[in-house]
Amino acid sequence: MDNCACVIVPEDSFDYPEIYRRHDRIARKSHRCCECGRQIAPGERYNYAWGVWEKSREYHRCADCQSIADAYFCDTVPFMGLDEELMNTFVYSGEDINLLLKESSIQKLTKAARERIFDIVEKQWERSEE
Ligand SMILES: [Zn+2]
Ligand SMILES: [Zn+2]
Repeated sequence: MDNCACVIVPEDSFDYPEIYRRHDRIARKSHRCCECGRQIAPGERYNYAWGVWEKSREYHRCADCQSIADAYFCDTVPFMGLDEELMNTFVYSGEDINLLLKESSIQKLTKAARERIFDIVEKQWERSEE
């Protein structure tokens, strides 16, 4: 993953799966998003991921969280906690907030995801005014 343009790249110590696959699906039954915890309703598009670490695991990611992952994260594996990762990077570690606001990234976000990103930007502004 050298020199990729992603805003968030996993650390070297990151636990990569041996095998990994993911694709968009339409939910046949409801699932819980592994990132934000919201219900993915039947009929809704979401991202399904399956991988083998020590043993196989699967993840269901809602379209909002997937759009955040696509916009900012290296497309590897589910992180479980996208917003926390962004908060840590931009609010607590002081990474340049403009990276979050790049037009090309913002365009990838769903409406709900945009609101989440703007919340993070606002928190960063509040913090920098203290
Ligand atoms: Zn979600
Ligand atoms: Zn990348």
